[in-house]
Amino acid sequence: MSIASIDPATGSTLRTFEPHDRPTVDRALDRAAAAFASWRRRPSAERAATVRRAGDILDRERDTFGELMTREMGKLRTAAVEEAAKCALACRHYADHADAYLAPEPVAVDGERAFVAFEPLGVVLAVMPWNFPFWQVIRFAAPALVAGNVGLLKHASNVPQCALALEDLFRRAGAPEGVFQTLLIGSDAVEDVILDDRVAAVTLTGSEGAGRSVAAAAGRALKKSVLELGGSDPFVVLASADIAQAAATAVRARTINNGQSCIAAKRFIVVDAVADAFEDAFVSGMAALRVGDPMDERTQLGPLSSAKQREEVDEQVRRSIDAGARVLTGGHILDGPGAFYAPTVLTDIPPGAPAWGDEVFGPVASLFRVADADAAFALANDTRFGLAASVWTSDGDEAERFARELVAGTVFVNAMVASDPRFPFGGVKASGYGRELSVYGLREFVNVKTVRMKPAPGKSGTGTE
Ligand code: NAP
Repeated sequence: MSIASIDPATGSTLRTFEPHDRPTVDRALDRAAAAFASWRRRPSAERAATVRRAGDILDRERDTFGELMTREMGKLRTAAVEEAAKCALACRHYADHADAYLAPEPVAVDGERAFVAFEPLGVVLAVMPWNFPFWQVIRFAAPALVAGNVGLLKHASNVPQCALALEDLFRRAGAPEGVFQTLLIGSDAVEDVILDDRVAAVTLTGSEGAGRSVAAAAGRALKKSVLELGGSDPFVVLASADIAQAAATAVRARTINNGQSCIAAKRFIVVDAVADAFEDAFVSGMAALRVGDPMDERTQLGPLSSAKQREEVDEQVRRSIDAGARVLTGGHILDGPGAFYAPTVLTDIPPGAPAWGDEVFGPVASLFRVADADAAFALANDTRFGLAASVWTSDGDEAERFARELVAGTVFVNAMVASDPRFPFGGVKASGYGRELSVYGLREFVNVKTVRMKPAPGKSGTGTE
């Protein structure tokens, strides 16, 4: 089956590509293995310079890259341009910090030269999603390449042009042949690549199902894996919160990336004391969003990434309504050729309904009213996911308690959750394991090596000082 690039705002096919056959993948693996042998030995400053140049190109050509992202998966053009700029920031972060993140750490031991070294693992396969088609890839690639690994990208099948643009980006940045390659393959071809001896490790950002498959294959092959999976993040509004600000941010937090972000707030948990005021402001904010052409700067909500994605969201909404949920606004597909869905708020959602605890990957908010902060805390943690959470309060003790005791990879207080190259990013429970970004992300794909050198018998030093 060919890999198609389809504009979700219009439904028209932009381009199609034949998937790479096995011999083509095999040649890419050979190139990657050969590239690793020399790339790992390049000075880290040289690898950092390559990644910095990639950042410069991303910045310079952010309008072009942004337009490509919008065409292929429908995100707002303004957000797509910002995404390219954020990628540049991540490249610079790793270029700036390569030496510090990779420097051997001395350990004081009498009579020895002892240190911990960080060495690259090899060829790392990255299986990536379409929702942030550049950012997800760059936040893997920049640290991996700086550390001396080489990258193989298997991108989501609906963003082949972004995938090829990223390969071209690193080529233009001066990465030697084989250091960063795109494989145009379907998900059914991923397991063979993971099992291949030339591949050292795998990272996946995607759904729970894909995570289970990739982790199982990596487990069979005893290879390192990192999983960045979905979430059903709570957005908790407590009695002392600034309701106007919380409600306005809630609209953005639920509809960022047209509702298709792993860290978009999905469950809005509001204490009774402020529930009416929050609901009024939130529902009217959602209903007032301008839905339309993602290329138009005035648009606030674009299409979902594909007709299939929209069907899945609508089915989850239908099943939730059938189970007893009440629609406060939206709750339906919007007519027209594009994959548009009405901004939606559901409430009175019974446990077990999809909108209660599953990840709904579209502009659909689940609103829960609870008696007090204790009930809010219990509901926020009552999830099989653990990606991120946001809490709104002006009470310092409450903020402290939620920040420390919510089971999630990230907690923001009085702000919308966002990733940042300086901070680790990732989840617990069904949201995955391992971290991206910061020093923690870089250290996922290194061999943390202990070296202890004692002097040879009869000599006073280790001979290496
Ligand atoms: P997806 O369907 O799981 O696809 C993600 C990637 O995995 C694609 O490249 C896909 O290839 C591949 N894939 C799918 N099934 C696979 C399998 N059984 N074995 C191997 N590879 C497989 O997810 P998506 O719809 O693209 O992305 C949305 C999901 O990603 C959401 O759940 C979202 O929360 C999650 N996400 C998480 C983070 C995070 O950092 N935690 C960030 C962004 C997104 P094909 O396209 O060829 O099927």
